[in-house]
Amino acid sequence: VGRNYEEHAKEMGVTPDKAEPFYFTKYAGAITPSGAKIAYPPGTRDYHYEMELVVAIGAPAFEVKEENALDAVYGYACGLDMTRRDLQLTAREKSRPWDLGKDFEESAIISEIVPASKIGHPAKGAITLSVNGSLKQSADLSQMINNTSEIIAHLSRFYHLDAGDLIYTGTPAGVGAVAPGDEITGRIDGVGEISLTIR
Ligand code: MN
Repeated sequence: VGRNYEEHAKEMGVTPDKAEPFYFTKYAGAITPSGAKIAYPPGTRDYHYEMELVVAIGAPAFEVKEENALDAVYGYACGLDMTRRDLQLTAREKSRPWDLGKDFEESAIISEIVPASKIGHPAKGAITLSVNGSLKQSADLSQMINNTSEIIAHLSRFYHLDAGDLIYTGTPAGVGAVAPGDEITGRIDGVGEISLTIR
């Protein structure tokens, strides 16, 4: 989900639109487990972290209503939507697809998925990210412009969601660049922690 926190939309120089959330996709091979040491990716000079709540779908969902949407959720995880920001912004300026900026090797980091049967459906709680121990992102899940139910209901108008689908729900303000040697750590209250090292 793009621009799902108002302050992040502002730092990206755009106005969020609650009525019409928007999406991009990453290929399944981009998924990388928390704790990995990954290479600085090719083709960028502005490689960014984005800390996000991840929703793991566990059952079919098509044209579901908001009030039933959470029935399709298996669980939740911490995610990093790693982004080649320079390539994304160039594409945005030229009204081209975002794939080069978003959909590339080792760009979708994920922690262990914890079942909703154990932790419920987190709608509030701190979401934070630090680089080398310095706090960069700090917000609350309740600040999401579209919440988990709204996202699933909206997406399910366009796709047959099913078990195994992962939805990254957007990042708070405070995104920024990392360099080789940097260590990223993130946390979501009630969900867990995530880490990533850039080689
Ligand atoms: Mn993102």
